[in-house]
Amino acid sequence: MKKGLKYSLMKTVGYLSYNLLKILPTGGKSYPGYLFLRYAGLDSLGNLAKEQIKDGSILITGTNRKTTTTTMIIDLMSNDVNISKSVDNNTIYALTTALLAKKSDIGIFEYGIRDLKHGIPDVVEKNIKPKVVVYTNVSREHTQVLGVKNSFEDYVKAKTLLSKNMKDGIVVANADDPIICNIGQEKQNDGHVVYYGFNVDNIEDDTDVSVMCPKCNKPLTYSHKYMNQRGVYSCSCGFKRCEPDVKITKYSIENNKNIITIDANVYNYFVDENISFTLDLELPLFGVHNVYNVLAATSTYACFTPKPENIEEKLKNYFNNIDLSILPPGRFEVLEYADKLVGIGQGDNGDALKVNYDYMNHFIQGNDYEFIYCTPDLNEEEIFEDHLNILKKINPTHITVIPGRVSVDVAKTYYTQIKDNNLNASFKSIEYDFEKRASGIIDSINESEYKYVVVSGCGEEHDVWNVTLNKLKE
Ligand SMILES: [Zn+2]
Repeated sequence: MKKGLKYSLMKTVGYLSYNLLKILPTGGKSYPGYLFLRYAGLDSLGNLAKEQIKDGSILITGTNRKTTTTTMIIDLMSNDVNISKSVDNNTIYALTTALLAKKSDIGIFEYGIRDLKHGIPDVVEKNIKPKVVVYTNVSREHTQVLGVKNSFEDYVKAKTLLSKNMKDGIVVANADDPIICNIGQEKQNDGHVVYYGFNVDNIEDDTDVSVMCPKCNKPLTYSHKYMNQRGVYSCSCGFKRCEPDVKITKYSIENNKNIITIDANVYNYFVDENISFTLDLELPLFGVHNVYNVLAATSTYACFTPKPENIEEKLKNYFNNIDLSILPPGRFEVLEYADKLVGIGQGDNGDALKVNYDYMNHFIQGNDYEFIYCTPDLNEEEIFEDHLNILKKINPTHITVIPGRVSVDVAKTYYTQIKDNNLNASFKSIEYDFEKRASGIIDSINESEYKYVVVSGCGEEHDVWNVTLNKLKE
């Protein structure tokens, strides 16, 4: 069927507005895509993707670390082929804008989904027809969205829909994360699944996070934990972690470097058979969470590069020269403030809070530090539960509890639970007001008797963190 005049016209308008807006300093990132979808219609996205992308697209989703993983995949792939990309902006508009910008061989798009009402994973899947869907991890965050309780099951379901109807494609899944591993297992009959994970004994995390079986909802049994919910697990119902195809088989820290060995045996889409390689890498001393990013990017690159020749060299070349600057800025920063060292940034799920603390811990000398903990909201008990588990494990010298989102009363009840767990804590009531929250955090830093201060937890999106951070810098 002939495509309508409206489609062609809007593609041109979208393209023109792309050229116009890309010269603007901010705000142009999603607007052309928005215009195109608004006037040509959502169903036109399929045609656009088909016309602009020759070999197929990769979609990357998860709760944390999508941006770092996506950046690594983009860097690796763009050495081999011409790509279209959308990173650090999780909307369908940003993705559409990237499609309008140019024709290319492969599309690489980060796509985040908070819930089904505020993301349309099934529509994205239907139109983009991804060849690869990458799942990084799933952690509980924002269990309420715009005041409505959003169950973790719905959140997982939304993620699942991004690959549900994909046939003969590849799912790249973190085997160590039970929920992601289950998404992979359910796709095994539809195409290929590439699992990645750790296979070493000398990395161990003893955080007490109880995780329910995604098949039968009974608690999983772990024989080993690598980081929070990630590890080697099984359930009496028969569900268990899959053996990774891309795995860390050696891990050590020497001379301030992560020395790792990756063994891989991966299906490649273009050669239509498995390729095997071993990689010895020297990475900067970033945490286990970043080693997971390296695994996810290696797996995705190996399964979807049309040029897998010399893959070891290409991967080594890239990762051995990587620096920390590719990590997304603004999420957690450590800075000197008065006579203190302050680490500050959003950590609105258990995983992120732990990663922030681990990073700050590199700087803390001695044992004493303050943790200014910004609480979740009403109906976000699951996030609090995950946060509390981390706080119990790291056991800060003193915790100042402050309300992170709307409700002050609920913050107080979370504080009571922290006290009930024998943690040394006090409560600071700050009413729900943007400016007051930011200055309240700064007051708490000033009032703290400790040299090292970590500020993390929930906040109103990124804004409150950025405002506070900028005030500190002044
Ligand atoms: Zn089970």
